[in-house]
Amino acid sequence: MNKQKKIYEGKAKILYETSKNNILIQHFKDDATAFNNLKRSKVEGKGVLNNRISEHIYNNLNQCGIETHLIKRLNMREQLIKSAKVFPIEFIVRNISAGSLVKRLGITEGTVLKYPLLEYCLKNDELQDPLISRDHIVNFEWANNNEIEKIDHMSLRINDLLQGLFRGIGIKLVDFKLEYGKTLNKDNGKEEIILVDEISPDTCRLWDTKTDKKLDKDRFRKDLGNIIQGYQEVARRLGIMPEETNIKEVNFLGTKSLKFKKKK
Ligand code: C5P
Repeated sequence: MNKQKKIYEGKAKILYETSKNNILIQHFKDDATAFNNLKRSKVEGKGVLNNRISEHIYNNLNQCGIETHLIKRLNMREQLIKSAKVFPIEFIVRNISAGSLVKRLGITEGTVLKYPLLEYCLKNDELQDPLISRDHIVNFEWANNNEIEKIDHMSLRINDLLQGLFRGIGIKLVDFKLEYGKTLNKDNGKEEIILVDEISPDTCRLWDTKTDKKLDKDRFRKDLGNIIQGYQEVARRLGIMPEETNIKEVNFLGTKSLKFKKKK
């Protein structure tokens, strides 16, 4: 299937049309951004790892009955996906307090939550993806009550499945972000809700079970270094370390001063 017109370019991914209606190509870039684009860098090989990790996770979810947009991985950086009308909402699931939950409510980082916490954020960079309530979503018709109920149910099931998957490889699933869309099911002609976007160390917080070492994008956000090594560790434990890619970090924004010896 041929790659055609670019129809969307986001911070970490590009979408292209294909010769087939309703089928797109999702391309994973190496760009890393945080704090609504204030912090930017290129992490060489990140796109390759996220492509593989997300493919692995979506295939696992699919085997457990979760409908996703993934058709198949095409190559190191691209996947063939079903097109969908994406809800303008980020659906967050939390098991342990971290990130914006800690900042907003002053909860100590690492507190295990009584039960999984679901949050919704409006996808809007200019407004910095504000936290919204279910009532906002219904009132402004971003989704209806029935859709939110279905999505919440899917998110909690995905959380159960992923917590199990990661627990088995010594990783705590702290929190993560999901996106959903609507698409027409060709077999029954009915509209259905499917999981879109990606699930990877870019969109999850993943801590080593024994040491609480961060293996996710917080290594970039918090300047912890060894970003790609964290992602590689997740891929390695999942048993999907990709072909050797000579991965290294490149920071275009950072500058280093050079010291010259004075001439005598
Ligand atoms: O920043 P915050 O704590 O709200 O993020 C919760 C989870 O959602 C984290 O795993 C983070 O990586 C993910 N997230 C994301 N994309 C965003 C915002 C959050 O993948 N735009």
